[in-house]
Amino acid sequence: MTKPIRLVIFGRQGAGKGTQCVKLVEEFGVVHISTGDMLRSAVEEGTEMGLKAKAVMDAGNLVSDDIINGIVRERLDKDDIKASGFVLDGYPRTTTQAEALVQILGRDEIHAVIDLEVPLEEVTARMKARGRDDDTDEGIARRLELYEAETRPVLDWFDARGMLVTVNGLGAEAEITDRLIGAVATSLA
Ligand code: ADP
Repeated sequence: MTKPIRLVIFGRQGAGKGTQCVKLVEEFGVVHISTGDMLRSAVEEGTEMGLKAKAVMDAGNLVSDDIINGIVRERLDKDDIKASGFVLDGYPRTTTQAEALVQILGRDEIHAVIDLEVPLEEVTARMKARGRDDDTDEGIARRLELYEAETRPVLDWFDARGMLVTVNGLGAEAEITDRLIGAVATSLA
């Protein structure tokens, strides 16, 4: 049995994290945890939390730290995660969430923190072409603005601890996958 790998991936909205996470799952046998997907499932199921979250998400705002920390804490406690590890996508998005994650896991339990870097103009164009429910012009602008305001400090936080690796997210999909796998391998070495 190999040791479970625990990864965190950052990147602007539209950077291609979802696509690349599928590849990381294949390569490292980890479980993909996307807080956005989890929230969209809750919306679809029409749970009380889902109904509250929908309005927030449609406006491009962030769901409260308390709610999202609770969801992630519960998810990370499940057996599949303990056995297989994870790639965390869309969390932590604020420094409060980063502190909660480190408290849940203990800092040394994270093996790699990756920033998939794609320029602002490129991600804006990609999201406009994608057309998800919350991909309105205002929604896109709001989420990208919040990314800089709330999530950039989280990247700086990991960087200051020597944990952050930046990967160029421009190019062919397979090429980017190779870069990511290389970055994880380097972090594990
Ligand atoms: P995007 O990367 O385009 O914002 P996600 O699927 O990651 O898409 O998230 C969709 C929405 O879900 C966000 O705009 C936000 O409202 C909510 N959300 C997801 N993750 C978090 C989080 N960690 N904290 C707060 N809100 C979140």
